[in-house]
Amino acid sequence: MAPLLLDLIGQYPVLTTISKYLSTLDLFHLGLTCRRSHAYILSSAKVFEVLRRNCLCDGRGLLRRQNVWNYSRYSYIWGPNGRKIHQDEEIEVKLFATRCDEAGALPCLKCGINICEECRECLRVPSRTGTRRPHLNKPWQNENLICLCDVCDARLEEQLSGQFLNELCDCDTAKRWICLKCTKEQDKETGEYYKKHTVAEVHDYDRYLEDYDATKVMMDHQFDILFYCTCGAFVPKEARPRCIWCKRKHRPEGEWSREMEETSNMPIDDGSYPIFVPNATSYPTLAYNGPIYQVPSRSDKTL
Ligand SMILES: [Zn+2]
Ligand SMILES: [Zn+2]
Ligand SMILES: [Zn+2]
Ligand SMILES: [Zn+2]
Repeated sequence: MAPLLLDLIGQYPVLTTISKYLSTLDLFHLGLTCRRSHAYILSSAKVFEVLRRNCLCDGRGLLRRQNVWNYSRYSYIWGPNGRKIHQDEEIEVKLFATRCDEAGALPCLKCGINICEECRECLRVPSRTGTRRPHLNKPWQNENLICLCDVCDARLEEQLSGQFLNELCDCDTAKRWICLKCTKEQDKETGEYYKKHTVAEVHDYDRYLEDYDATKVMMDHQFDILFYCTCGAFVPKEARPRCIWCKRKHRPEGEWSREMEETSNMPIDDGSYPIFVPNATSYPTLAYNGPIYQVPSRSDKTL
């Protein structure tokens, strides 16, 4: 009698091979199909961890980029005064000709699911705020920071020890290898922290005056913002702000202007985007030289 699929899955080398042809989510679903495949694939976290290292990227990140581009394209349609472009965009020829590099995937730094270069969430065109660091932007808006009381800060430092090569935050929005789902969670966490544990001078002036001397105050554009610890305690004035993404400390605030100078306008040169060069008479040929993107027909515009 020919072996059943389940008999094959039960053999580790076959299972390893199968995992090379599935996305992590599909592998997980295969594990849920019945008791036996659950036992082979999901019962041991270690086995699942090893298997999912082989998995393919599922292409969702690229799809999202293409959909966002479609969406903004139709929002900013040609009008009497031309097309409104609010920011630099990826070159559509490249974006729509790009394929998800399923087999060339690496694990997301947060959840470990394999994603490819095209599907990871990262800055792909130069930022309007001119920096690739999460906490630095030209209007000096207070972003992606977390400040803790001494007790919570020491506890966090202990948890982080040995996890990173660099002791200080070196997050780079163009280089981070992170999936769509994790960026959404990260944005949610950041939003909640700012909502629950900071007070902007402009939003609650009474509380601002009341706590100004007791807790840490930082700049947020032209105004102040008060920081409280996640445990509810005040934050010492001298506490070093941390990156809310990686939770590592930043350089001391006094060095941020210099850091801004060092990291401002770093080009994102993957060969597909012409970097703006003042007074340039010509631009280098781009890496992509495939077919020119066709304008979708009217019926496609409902996308
Ligand atoms: Zn991909
Ligand atoms: Zn992830
Ligand atoms: Zn605390
Ligand atoms: Zn960081």
